[in-house]
Amino acid sequence: MQGTLGGGTGPGLFALDSRTLLICCFILNVAWGQMNFTGDQVLRVIAKDEKQLSLLRDLEGLKPQKVDFWRGPARPSLPVDMRVPFSELKDVKAYLASHDIACSVMIKDIQVLLDEEREAMAKSRRLERSTNSFSYSSYHTLEEIYSWIDNLVTENSNTVSKIHIGSSFENRSIIVLKFSTGGSNRSAIWIDTGIHSREWITHATGIWLAKKIVSEYGKDHALTKILKAMDIFLEIVTNPDGFAFTHSMNRLWRKNKSSRPGIFCIGVDLNRNWKSGFGGNGSNKNPCSDTYQGPSPQSEPEVLAIVNFISGHGNFKALISIHSYSQMIMFPYGYSLEPVPNHDELYSLAKDAVNALYKVHGIKYIFGSISTTLYTASGIMVDWAYDNGIKYAFSFELRDTGHYGFLLPAAQIIPTAEETWMAIQTIMKHALNHPY
Ligand SMILES: [Zn+2]
Repeated sequence: MQGTLGGGTGPGLFALDSRTLLICCFILNVAWGQMNFTGDQVLRVIAKDEKQLSLLRDLEGLKPQKVDFWRGPARPSLPVDMRVPFSELKDVKAYLASHDIACSVMIKDIQVLLDEEREAMAKSRRLERSTNSFSYSSYHTLEEIYSWIDNLVTENSNTVSKIHIGSSFENRSIIVLKFSTGGSNRSAIWIDTGIHSREWITHATGIWLAKKIVSEYGKDHALTKILKAMDIFLEIVTNPDGFAFTHSMNRLWRKNKSSRPGIFCIGVDLNRNWKSGFGGNGSNKNPCSDTYQGPSPQSEPEVLAIVNFISGHGNFKALISIHSYSQMIMFPYGYSLEPVPNHDELYSLAKDAVNALYKVHGIKYIFGSISTTLYTASGIMVDWAYDNGIKYAFSFELRDTGHYGFLLPAAQIIPTAEETWMAIQTIMKHALNHPY
């Protein structure tokens, strides 16, 4: 619909200026649902030195809530990926050029990928309805995942049960799956996916893992041995409010949805809210930041629910917290450059996990401690786990290294899950064979 409204002959009913039109479109878009990212790009920058890195960090301050770092400035060898809205592209590119920082376009138009993703989901939903089966190679909404969980538990009640560990800020149920073959309070392994809601490949991997565990118990020798001695707990949707929001409104939302009186911006980064190095480097006190730490440690119900559950259980031996993207396996600390007491053991275990993963589809991961491999990050879950006695604590960053970033095509779900499973098994086996 073009050409009729703009040709006004005076200040009549139809004499809308382009600004008003834009606002109308925005309001309509919001009323209809998803935010539109047409023309937004993801730029990749490889900083030459610390000075350029710090200029990139300044961008967040210069353009708050505009430049969205998909991979934040870490160290000169690691790429920095940032989503820049169409309206800011010119400014941001000029800023980079004026400081002699080279950049390339990683994603030319985000909306194109989002449209493809949405179309693939709709197609798969139609197929699932007609065949009455669940597709593991598709992305799903919260409702679809929760109803799939109920089916999984009903069909496999001898090995898996569902535990409600709390409620989210918006009062959604926080659910953990427990895989157990008996015993009481056995040594346990914790796995979580989706603490950052836009990292959809992680939820999809979690779903595949759950199915794998129930199907392979009694068949796969290594898994059977693990499940005869230990329990596995899996939280697939660790940030339910954020995840629902990625479907209803903003596909690129990372935080939870908590709000507080007098604070304009919404959401806390659930991986900066833990009581371990809280508020240190690599977290942010500004509520509008994507890495906002929250007002106090464990202020967020989604974090507190896990803290209470893991502490109440008291017998967790390994913890794996799954993110995307970057292809990394890392271990504590995030908040400190100091090596942890069992650094060498974790280093060699991470190396074994990366090798096992590589053998599946030839995908290369890097590994090491969080602070030395990625960047300093404070108030994070794996540091909390480690400081609370879980000495096999790992953080994964799944595929890819930036071609699609958070918008990894659904065709990569199963291969990603298959290779991740081998890395997880490596860690579980080690925990089983090295009791403490
Ligand atoms: Zn993440």
